Amino acid sequence: MTRLCVPIFVTDFARAKREIATAIEAGAEMIELRIDEVIDVPMLQGLLQEASLPIILTCRSDREGGRGHRSDADRIALVEEVAASNPEAYVDLELGTLESAASPPVLSNPLIVSTHDFQGRPERLNNLLIEMNGRPASVNKVVWTARSIRDNLEAFEILQSRQRPTIALCMGEHGMISRILAKKFGAFLTFASLDSDRATAPGQVTIDQMKSLYRGDAVGAATRIYGVVGSPVAHSMSPAIHNASFEETRFDGLYVPLLVNAGYESFKAFMESMVLFEGLDLCGLSVTIPHKENALRYLTEKSAEADDLSRRIGAVNTIVIDRRLGHSAPRLRGLNTDYGAILDSITTTLKIERNGLAEYRVAVIGAGGTGRTAVAALAACGATVVIYNRTRERADALAAEFNGHTGHVVVAPLEKLCDSCCQVYVNTTSIGMHPKIDASAFGDRRPRHGADVVVMDAVYNPIQTQFLREAETAGARTINGLEMFVRQAAAQFELWTGLPAPLKVMRDVVEARLRPSGEHT
Ligand code: NAP
Repeated sequence: MTRLCVPIFVTDFARAKREIATAIEAGAEMIELRIDEVIDVPMLQGLLQEASLPIILTCRSDREGGRGHRSDADRIALVEEVAASNPEAYVDLELGTLESAASPPVLSNPLIVSTHDFQGRPERLNNLLIEMNGRPASVNKVVWTARSIRDNLEAFEILQSRQRPTIALCMGEHGMISRILAKKFGAFLTFASLDSDRATAPGQVTIDQMKSLYRGDAVGAATRIYGVVGSPVAHSMSPAIHNASFEETRFDGLYVPLLVNAGYESFKAFMESMVLFEGLDLCGLSVTIPHKENALRYLTEKSAEADDLSRRIGAVNTIVIDRRLGHSAPRLRGLNTDYGAILDSITTTLKIERNGLAEYRVAVIGAGGTGRTAVAALAACGATVVIYNRTRERADALAAEFNGHTGHVVVAPLEKLCDSCCQVYVNTTSIGMHPKIDASAFGDRRPRHGADVVVMDAVYNPIQTQFLREAETAGARTINGLEMFVRQAAAQFELWTGLPAPLKVMRDVVEARLRPSGEHT
């Protein structure tokens, strides 16, 4: 069983007691008392005696991230004295401290022998593990700062080949998945902070995130893993939406953020290592900026399947990884669910089939990634598309590429948007996105729409953009960016699980995250 351990820096008795109680209430299964900064032995003994959860007692060396400046001998003497009050409490001592100690610590407590490297992967990692195994200890703990997401795999390998209960974690944003997936690999524990202000190591997630966002109670050895590949990914709403959907449908899956640096080589290295890694059970990926084009290139290089639409758009936002037994290697399939999400958002509002769009004239504002997807999708359905973009050359190139496939695609100046006579308007620019929420693609002018006009915004933060407000005031029907976001995620969920997506749950999750603060990106 992998315990969820909350580290608490002890400063005074009352505060430590409060924080322990809060951690227990939040679902902690173990508490690490960091006593780097206190030497009040009776107070610490009191904490240990009163503890109702398993405790780890740690007075960390400043060489390995500790806050105090005490000598090794003083630290050992302190933990010996405090730990004696509760022989069941674990004591964490660094391998380096044990090696340099004049004599072994006098402890009847179970020992965690640990090593921490804040600079990166220790050069002697394998030797360190051999040396730890040679020590009379109950648990090995090895922690280092991940240089890339691939470092996590080595942490998982350490757990898979452990000779005794082991903690193997990577610090930093790149290392976050080692914390979230520790339970899948049978680690002795994983750490989670009480809140983001009280993290004791970089990249630590909060106990609330671990329990609810990352399905801490549901994860097991057989859990299938999914994730969003991008840079940045820290503020992505996809983990919230997909994990809530797994929870709702009781699907044994977990969705995590996968930070992969920009550049094709980084994407390729990620795919080559993570997809093939035995035991990770990576079964599906959402792909976001800056890797949508890289994903298509990778799949093409590997002669893997990518649907015609993705190829036409030049971007993949979804990868299905089929790991069924009988295949010599996992089979990859690339798709673009943004495409269908844009079309279905519009056709549902218009109450028409996709081919009914051939009767419509649609303004697409923007010629970036989303604009390209919208133009490709609408033209394929036979719509007449007018592209409005700040940079004219980009719009011209896009029109030239898709004109005649199947609908007509033409270009008009962005300043003339309010003079347009289209029946559908789709903003695919970032105009009006948080924090510049007062901006609108209509500029200083006001649109003159009627109730027969439909106006859609891809921007979902805020949900109600200035662009949509102006369209609504003019009388148009509107579709917010949440609709597209939920639909593309729902299509991914269905591709990965074969289950109908719980659309209401998905909408509620996104709304709940966007409505209160409006600060997500
Ligand atoms: P992108 O590839 O960078 O394209 C940005 C587009 O916006 C370009 O056409 C750019 O024009 C235009 N633009 C940016 N700032 C502008 C300004 N101040 N004035 C006029 N035009 C401006 O971005 P993207 O990936 O397509 O994303 C665009 C928006 O769609 C973002 O807000 C994103 O959050 C949203 N989005 C939503 C969903 C969803 O599911 N709802 C999915 C994907 C994206 P130039 O060509 O002149 O630079």
